[in-house]
Amino acid sequence: MSIVVQKYGGSSVADVTRIRQVAERVMLTKRAGHDVVVVVSAMGDTTDDLLALAKQVSPNPERRELDMLLTAGERIAMALVSMAIRELGGDAISFTGSQSGIITNDRHVDARIIEVRPFRVQDELARGKIVVIAGYQGVSYRREVTTLGRGGSDTTAVAMSAALGAEYCEICSDVDGVYTADPRAVSTARRISILSYEETQELAEAGAKVLNAQAVEFAKEKGIAIYARATTSPLPGADPSADGTVVRRYSPRMPGTVVGVASERDILLIESSASTADVLTLLDAQHVAGKQLHASGRAMLTVVVSRENLHEEARLRAGLAERFGGRVRLVDDLGALSVVGAGINASFENLRRGTDALDSSGVSPHDIATSSFRITWMIQRDRLDEAVRLMHRTFLEHAGPVVP
Ligand code: ADP
Ligand code: ASP
Ligand code: MG
Repeated sequence: MSIVVQKYGGSSVADVTRIRQVAERVMLTKRAGHDVVVVVSAMGDTTDDLLALAKQVSPNPERRELDMLLTAGERIAMALVSMAIRELGGDAISFTGSQSGIITNDRHVDARIIEVRPFRVQDELARGKIVVIAGYQGVSYRREVTTLGRGGSDTTAVAMSAALGAEYCEICSDVDGVYTADPRAVSTARRISILSYEETQELAEAGAKVLNAQAVEFAKEKGIAIYARATTSPLPGADPSADGTVVRRYSPRMPGTVVGVASERDILLIESSASTADVLTLLDAQHVAGKQLHASGRAMLTVVVSRENLHEEARLRAGLAERFGGRVRLVDDLGALSVVGAGINASFENLRRGTDALDSSGVSPHDIATSSFRITWMIQRDRLDEAVRLMHRTFLEHAGPVVP
C-alpha cells in the first residue's frame, strides 16, 4: 500500500470542530486505500502563547527550557487528533518526535534533522494503524528534546515522507496553495499550480509562510513531491495542481520570470565596523543564526537576523553593546521585500524595474541583496505591505508573465 503523509497546520487543528474535520479527512484517505501518517502542529496560536508565557517569566528564556515548553503544544494536538480519529472508528496511535525517530543536531530552538529512524512508525503502519506525529520536534543525539524552528512541522512531514518512501506529502493549511504573494496582503494574488523546489525554497526563505524553507530543502534532496493544499480541499485527484500547488522537480521557466513576491516583517540588521571575526564569534556563542551576511574589507559587516527564532534579543543587544560599544549598530525598523524567480538577475532589468517602482513611491531601500533566484530590498517596515502590493503590480499584474 502506498504511504501518504499529511501535515495539518495550527489553524487546521485550532479547535475541537476542526480537529474532527481533520480526523474525517484522515479517515477518507485511509478508506481510499493508503497507509496514512499525520503530522500535526500545535493548536491555533499555542506556540505564540507559550512563547509569551515564557517571556513573562524570563526576558531571555533558556533555549533548552523553551524547547521543553514549546514541544508541549504539538503533544496536545497529536493526542487530540488521535482520539478524534479513534472516535470515527480509525485505529490511530500518536507519537512524539522522539518516539517517531526524528533525530536532530544538538541546537535548541532551531535544531536541524540529521536522521530519521522511523521504525516504530513503520511497525504501527504494518499493523494497519494511522500514525499521528507531533510536528516541529525531535530528539538530539544527546537525548535532549529539540524544536526545529518556527514553521517546523512542515519539515517533520517532509523528512518523515522521505524516510518512509511516501508517495507524496500533503501540507494542509488555511490557504489552498502557494500564491504569487500572501493572499492576505495582496487581493490580486493568484495560486501557482506548479513550482520548482528552488523557487519554493526562495519564496519560503523570503518570508512566504505557507511552506517552511528547510522542509523544501529536504523535499528537493529526496525528490519528494509536496502538495500544498487547503485542509478544506478534497483529497488530491488525478491532477493535484488543479486545486492546489504541486512542488516538484520542474524544468526552468523562461529565465528572469518573476514567480512571486514575499516579505519578512521582523528582521534585525547588525551593522558593524568592529572585527568581523569577533562579531561572528559572539553571534555563534549566543546561537544567533544570520540569514544573510555581507562583509566588505576587514571590518564592514552587515548581518541580517530573522527575529522568528531569536528569543533572547535582550541578551544579544547587551552582549554586543558591552563588547563592541558604538562600533556595532542594530537597525530594527526594517523589513525585507523580495521578488523571486529563476535567473531573475541574468540582467539588471528586474532589479532596475523594482528599484524604480520603489523610488517612484518614495521608498528608498536601506540595502539591496541579490542571488540568482532573488532580489531583496530592505525597506522601512511601515512601508512593507504597500511595497509588496507595488511589486506584485509591477512584476505580476501589468503585462506580467503567465505563471502556470
Ligand atoms: P499553518 O499553520 O497551516 O502551517 P501558516 O500560517 O504557517 O499555516 O502558513 C499559511 C499562511 O501563509 C497563510 O494563511 C498566508 O497568509 C501565508 N502566506 C504568506 N505568503 C503566502 C503565499 N505566497 N502563498 C500562500 N500563503 C502565504
Ligand atoms: N507550532 C510551531 C510554530 O508555530 C510549528 C509549526 O506550526 O509548524 O511555529
Ligand atoms: Mg506553517
